[in-house]
Amino acid sequence: MEQWMICVYLFIVGLFFGSFFNCLCDRLSNNQSIIHPGSHCDNCKHELTWYELIPVFSYLFQGGKCSKCKIKLSFWYPFTEIITGLLFMGSFIVYGFTLNTLLSIVISSVFICVIISDSKYMVILDEVLIAGIILVSIIYIFQGGMINLAYRFLRGLVLFSIMLLIKVFGDITFKQESLGWGDIKLAFFVGIVLGIKLGIMHIFIGAFLALPYALYITYKNKDNILPFGPFLISAFFILFHFQDFFYNLLSIIFRGAI
Ligand SMILES: [Zn+2]
Repeated sequence: MEQWMICVYLFIVGLFFGSFFNCLCDRLSNNQSIIHPGSHCDNCKHELTWYELIPVFSYLFQGGKCSKCKIKLSFWYPFTEIITGLLFMGSFIVYGFTLNTLLSIVISSVFICVIISDSKYMVILDEVLIAGIILVSIIYIFQGGMINLAYRFLRGLVLFSIMLLIKVFGDITFKQESLGWGDIKLAFFVGIVLGIKLGIMHIFIGAFLALPYALYITYKNKDNILPFGPFLISAFFILFHFQDFFYNLLSIIFRGAI
């Protein structure tokens, strides 16, 4: 198969997965079954037919409205579908015919799901993290065997513990919940993939990315609850794809310090 055909194929598969991730996050975050009932309009309960379920295209052909009750559909859906398509395709363009392409696709999927569920419902789903951990574990066994995987789990546990300490310290200092449990469980996944050094870095970069938004909501005097997950997962996503750069950066910083 030609390379461009694989790219187109992965883009289309990504669109469908993006659509599935939206449905998955909407339903699991609201404690609904993912199988029953079938896809429907949230407003008029009109059951969607197959041609209303095609990612992006259905949205465009219906002019961004429900075909029955004409309520405006959120632009969020086609947007996240396209992003998922681009990430799946981009994974192959960057990593080619290697297991890293699969790894990148799994990580992109967790990235999208955490952003959807945490920004919409302030929750990072256990189901997403467990699926992510199982899938990357299988890939790591193929890449480096069981011992490699055991080490990775150990690193995950260390990062999980570090995040837990930050939470305990933060809760006592600010006398309110500083970090959600989802962020701490996410750290286990991040530790497995990135290891301890880059894992610690993901906390700092996540905080750095969240800072403008945190200042904005403080300035606007809105409620002080900020979903930290989208920032943490974005930091993780950046670190995963630019690992070499950040390793070099760390070695320069620590050489300078000594
Ligand atoms: Zn409707």
